[in-house]
Amino acid sequence: MTSLRIPLLLLLLLLGLTGCEKTPGIHKETLYVFGTLVEISLYDVAPEKAAAVVGELNQTFRKMHEDWHAWKPGALTELNSAIARGETVETLPSIIALIERSRELSQLSGGLFNPAIGHLVGLWGFHQDDLPKGSLPDFDRIKERVAANPTMDDLILDGTQVASRNPLVKLDFGAFAKGVALDEAVRILKSRGITNAIVNAGGDLNVIGRPGDRAWKVGIRHPVDWGVIASVDLADGEVLYTSGNYERFREHEGIRYAHIIDPRTGMPVTHIVSASVLHRDGGLADAAATALSVAGPPGWEKVAEAMGLDHVLLVDDNGTVYATPAMIKRVTFEPGEAKRMVVSGQP
Ligand code: ADP
Ligand code: MG
Repeated sequence: MTSLRIPLLLLLLLLGLTGCEKTPGIHKETLYVFGTLVEISLYDVAPEKAAAVVGELNQTFRKMHEDWHAWKPGALTELNSAIARGETVETLPSIIALIERSRELSQLSGGLFNPAIGHLVGLWGFHQDDLPKGSLPDFDRIKERVAANPTMDDLILDGTQVASRNPLVKLDFGAFAKGVALDEAVRILKSRGITNAIVNAGGDLNVIGRPGDRAWKVGIRHPVDWGVIASVDLADGEVLYTSGNYERFREHEGIRYAHIIDPRTGMPVTHIVSASVLHRDGGLADAAATALSVAGPPGWEKVAEAMGLDHVLLVDDNGTVYATPAMIKRVTFEPGEAKRMVVSGQP
């Protein structure tokens, strides 16, 4: 490794994708979707086939982006408006699938991952492309929204019809949709005969096969400075998702307010942490990484156990690493980066 502090994308280039462009049979393209760059790298594939399948992924991602957007007018905002009016409404099958899956995950996470808290996310100013500025939201309104206790269990589904027992439910799949989207991308790639590929959405990624004769080597972020604290080799079908409160935040009078909200308090998560989950299911890993970020060092083990996660790693701003034994076996730390290690279940 040349430096301990190289940005993640660059690191991924160095570690996993060295010399891609020059090597025949490797096709790399970057799409901008879900507010992030999605880098698709396909190995051992003819250029025409690669271009066609990337085009298909692009269309799939754009449709999801439009249909599932939390604040730009589309199918999800229509559903949210109907919920607020107390009406029953017909929605898209893809949104029904998101609701059903995220309801289960929300329950498993003890409500720390809760896509029904869109009003809180909006009140904190994160329902806009630019980072929010200026004064903080009205705390009485925050309290009101927390007291209303919006949960995924408030929703009543009947086929593609949705109603809510609670008009203060507002769906925001920002913590989960990227994982579902990358799972779908992998399904499409495989169905088109792609056997070796990586789909990387700003450090959240799914892999298929392997690049040549080695494994996919990817970096795990340090929560403070975008450096890398460790690397991990991923096998065919594995995914790695990292969530952190250092990415999108608003700053007011020297205090950072993160885009990850604790549903119990309505307040942005204050402990600085990055939470990574290695799994085989992108949707689950994405939701779980968010729940673990909310839980932070005091509650992460409980969430990991409840969600059935074997491979979890958290890093706080002091460089303390909290991890499961299985995850410790998989990662290689940068020298000197892990200042203290707290391994679950070990004294
Ligand atoms: P990223 O997408 O940046 O990797 P996350 O996956 O953690 O980060 O998603 C954060 C987004 O999820 C927020 O921008 C917001 O839309 C939504 N969100 C915030 N807090 C929660 C929460 N506790 N449960 C579910 N969704 C949340
Ligand atoms: Mg997430």
